[in-house]
Amino acid sequence: MKKVRVRFAPSPTGPLHMGGVRTALFNYLFAKRHGGDFLLRIEDTDQTRYVPGAEEYIVESLKWCGISPDEGFSVGGELGPYRQSERADIYRDYALKLVESGNAYYAFDTAEEMDTLRKQYEAEKKTFVYNNKTRQTLKNSIALSDQECDAIMATGAPFVVRFKMPENETVTIDDAIRGTVSFNTNDLDDKVLFKSDGLPTYHLANVVDDYMMQISHVIRGEEWLPSLPLHALLYKALGWGDKTPVFAHLPLILKPVGKGKLSKRDGDKMGFPVFPLEWEDPKSGDISMGYKEQGYLPEAFVNMLAFLGWNPGTEQEIFSLGELAQAFSLEKVGKAGAKFDPEKTKWFNHQYLAATDDAKLADMFLPLLKENGVEAELAYVAKVIALVKERATFVADLWEQSSFFFVAPEEYDAKVVKKRWKNQVPGQIADLTELLKGVEDFSSENTETVVKEWISSNEYGMGAIMNAFRLAIVGAGKGPHLFDIIAMIGKDDTIARLEKAMDVLPK
Ligand code: GLU
Repeated sequence: MKKVRVRFAPSPTGPLHMGGVRTALFNYLFAKRHGGDFLLRIEDTDQTRYVPGAEEYIVESLKWCGISPDEGFSVGGELGPYRQSERADIYRDYALKLVESGNAYYAFDTAEEMDTLRKQYEAEKKTFVYNNKTRQTLKNSIALSDQECDAIMATGAPFVVRFKMPENETVTIDDAIRGTVSFNTNDLDDKVLFKSDGLPTYHLANVVDDYMMQISHVIRGEEWLPSLPLHALLYKALGWGDKTPVFAHLPLILKPVGKGKLSKRDGDKMGFPVFPLEWEDPKSGDISMGYKEQGYLPEAFVNMLAFLGWNPGTEQEIFSLGELAQAFSLEKVGKAGAKFDPEKTKWFNHQYLAATDDAKLADMFLPLLKENGVEAELAYVAKVIALVKERATFVADLWEQSSFFFVAPEEYDAKVVKKRWKNQVPGQIADLTELLKGVEDFSSENTETVVKEWISSNEYGMGAIMNAFRLAIVGAGKGPHLFDIIAMIGKDDTIARLEKAMDVLPK
């Protein structure tokens, strides 16, 4: 196999959707798997759709995910520039070559004329298509004589270049994911390749750049499948037939419920992000949430994305980026749409959070502690993390799960009070407090032995005492092993909390 070179070629029309990140990821993994290059190219030839800030957003998003380009926009390389608007001159020559070889033609129809035509067709319940049936009747270099064309050109009137789609040919292509796909050229239109603004359309720029940048495999979303026959024909028409890359069209990412493509609206409705990073719309100022800001770890996000359309064929679900690159293959990418599951995404985050080093998590947790007015030693925080991280999905959950390691409860869960703090229990807790005052070794193991022996010898209810004890220490019915908690907060704090509970709760 020749050297693998793949590219991610987003258009800077807004924030990068998670589907786009998945396309970048699959390209990256494929390149790494085969010791190849991963390129980043910005496709900005449609200047009307350009959104300021989108390029930076793309670069930052990939960086957050750990998907680093070997070559391209923002990193440079020998075959640049990697932003299409900086390559405008290159495309003009190829458009002219296609006209000279008879594969394309000039069209002079104005926007108004096209509009009128469309309306006429609509009135007859038909759709106007610029193709081999209609081109003869329109204002272009096929229908008009050379003199007529020259005369129009001489006036400086705007023109476009259209591809001359061959008549009734079958175009057959092997897609690495879909297998053999066939198209009849009679179903296709004469697409504009070069616009009157002097810039190419996506189709021409994309093919020319893939050729010039020596792209071996085009891995992209399913929405580009209809463009495939045109692209294949363009390679042929430009004389690069033997350089046509391998094409692989990835399956759609579907809504969590029902049919159809996952959209931002689904995320808004169900409360999950569809973008990697938060995005502020430069026009409206609207903020769209991002995975990063919602507390997802990039490794979890990437792992989840990898499973949207791909699976390793084994039971293993947790993969680092490096492991994904080892395991990835296009053969294991499915054709069927992949349903996005927000709950599974949380599950991935939980797995990664639980596997993160306690000291590292403690570091991430410190700002949150500070917000809650807590100054604590990193080593102490790390020990707390070890006890509670199994219960958290996000770093932000850690406070809810561990506040009682840092501060005594201010309030007590009313339901638990009603259920657990009654009859003889307050009196028994008073005795327990006295018992603990006499305990020297406040390790979790020792307090557990002493307290449990005391409960048994007095024939008290284990559940009754332990639940009331927990209520006094935590303020609720939750939390890890109670003797671990009191060992962490220490004897003085434990006694103080018991006394406070006896003071403020019903006698
Ligand atoms: N610029 C196209 C996009 O925005 C690239 C499609 C392709 O990869 O060919 O997705």
